[in-house]
Amino acid sequence: MGKVTGFKEFEREVEPYRDASERSLDFKEIYTDHQPEHLQTQGARCMDCGVPFCQSANGCPVHNLIPEWNDLVYRNRWREALDRLHKTNNFPEFTGRVCPAPCEGACVLGITDPAVTIKNIECSIVDKGFDEGWIVPEIPESRSDKSIAIVGSGPAGLTAAAQLNRAGHTVTVYERADRIGGLLMYGIPNMKLDKRFVDRRVDILRAEGINFVTNADVGGQGDNAVDVTKLVADNDAVLLATGATLARDLNIPGREGDGVHLAMEFLTANTKSLLDSNLEDGNYISATDKKVIVIGGGDTGNDCIGTSIRHNCQSLVNFELLPKPPIDRAQNNPWPLWPRIHRVDYGHAEAGDKFGDDPRVFQVASKEFLRDSDGKLLGIVTVNVDDKLQEIPGTEKTWEADLVFLSMGFLQPEHYLNEALGMETDGRGNFVADKEKYQTSIPKVYAAADCRRGQDLVVRAINEGREVARAIDIDLMGSSQLPA
Ligand SMILES: Cc1cc2nc3c(=O)[nH]c(=O)nc-3n(C[C@H](O)[C@H](O)[C@H](O)COP(=O)(O)OP(=O)(O)OC[C@H]3O[C@@H](n4cnc5c(N)ncnc54)[C@H](O)[C@@H]3O)c2cc1C
Ligand code: SF4
Repeated sequence: MGKVTGFKEFEREVEPYRDASERSLDFKEIYTDHQPEHLQTQGARCMDCGVPFCQSANGCPVHNLIPEWNDLVYRNRWREALDRLHKTNNFPEFTGRVCPAPCEGACVLGITDPAVTIKNIECSIVDKGFDEGWIVPEIPESRSDKSIAIVGSGPAGLTAAAQLNRAGHTVTVYERADRIGGLLMYGIPNMKLDKRFVDRRVDILRAEGINFVTNADVGGQGDNAVDVTKLVADNDAVLLATGATLARDLNIPGREGDGVHLAMEFLTANTKSLLDSNLEDGNYISATDKKVIVIGGGDTGNDCIGTSIRHNCQSLVNFELLPKPPIDRAQNNPWPLWPRIHRVDYGHAEAGDKFGDDPRVFQVASKEFLRDSDGKLLGIVTVNVDDKLQEIPGTEKTWEADLVFLSMGFLQPEHYLNEALGMETDGRGNFVADKEKYQTSIPKVYAAADCRRGQDLVVRAINEGREVARAIDIDLMGSSQLPA
């Protein structure tokens, strides 16, 4: 249970990021090296509260056995901690870096004191596991005669592949991009998740026997198209894990023309160019010396800010439609719910370091993109909104901009795949499949994670990847040894 009096003796100390002015000059990870002894002390703060909300419904979506590995880390038993961690989470090196850590919001110690640094401890366990060579391919001892095709190689597709392969089935993952990983590869930028770590895990999965096919656009029409009807006919099950890639646009006057881009056009091209040529091929949207405005927040908006800063943009502003959240939990947002509070993410801190101020402007609605007679983007006209998001007359303002990134969320999956199959979607455009059986309206075809529920979190995609693998295994074999 950690140290009996640990939570009274030790303060919460989160692992620091690299200094903002230093890290914003490169695309290397923002994190500093783990200090094992420091993490043992942080593990000692876990008070084994008896009912660990951190691993319950409001906490960790994969139900990581958090108090158990906190205790093992405190006792310097890292190898056992790694085994406990891998029991519930296939890819802790991803969540340990990018998860917003709902577990910490639900930590019982958090009622009176700052929560245990669960996410740091998780990351350090798995990083040590790789450093020590403890994480190696585990090849199944026997094979079934079942074959499964998985469409999409994001965290849900990769998790389901790992689990179904472990159950002995022959698994092939089809990915339309040129690299495996979904948004782990081409969404979340390198400074938050180094792509070497995605490749490292994919290499292990490949060594375990999973087949990967890139540049394979299932249900598409172009040169890389893969016939989805044939895929269904040729396999015992097909899992769709295609993500929610349709972004919300901003159709106000002046939208058409250069200078206004969806966030993913910016982030995907940047990572691809970084990996292909260290940004030397020029195949990306450059924010260098540009006046940049990012419309919308969340992880995606923050990643646009961090990437623009690394390009050395001239100025940076981030519009948020909603009011600024409170510093502490509001009364209607009690523990153990996810705290809806004002947070300063890495990009906000870097913008503050570079320009002297947090880049966010709250309660601002964009009305029009301004362009000159040649169509060149000049700026944006905005109006302030009140707490009910009603426009406040007389508050119109013009902002200069050379580049605008739209980061206003994602709507639903793209639809050519379900149309090719004649498959049902729900009122929000997501693939219809319930959370227990994950079956779509087409026999043998399953759907999980963002394409089923809308864009969410990596850890929830891992959770659904595990659950759908078990559901498929039960349907194929009558029962399953796979944990959910
Ligand atoms: C910029 C950005 C930053 C984010 N940051 C975080 C974060 O910090 N923490 C966090 O927890 N979550 C974050 N998220 C959300 C998280 O990445 C997603 O919720 C998660 O990746 C969803 O996993 P998935 O497996 O459902 O789909 P995805 O990761 O979206 O993967 C789907 C894959 O399917 C492929 N595909 C689609 N259609 C086809 C087809 N027809 N044929 C073949 N392949 C196809 C796509 O190319 C893609 O590779 C972020 C999202 C974005 C966009
Ligand atoms: S996966 Fe996320 S919620 Fe679960 S223990 Fe790790 S940081 Fe916490």
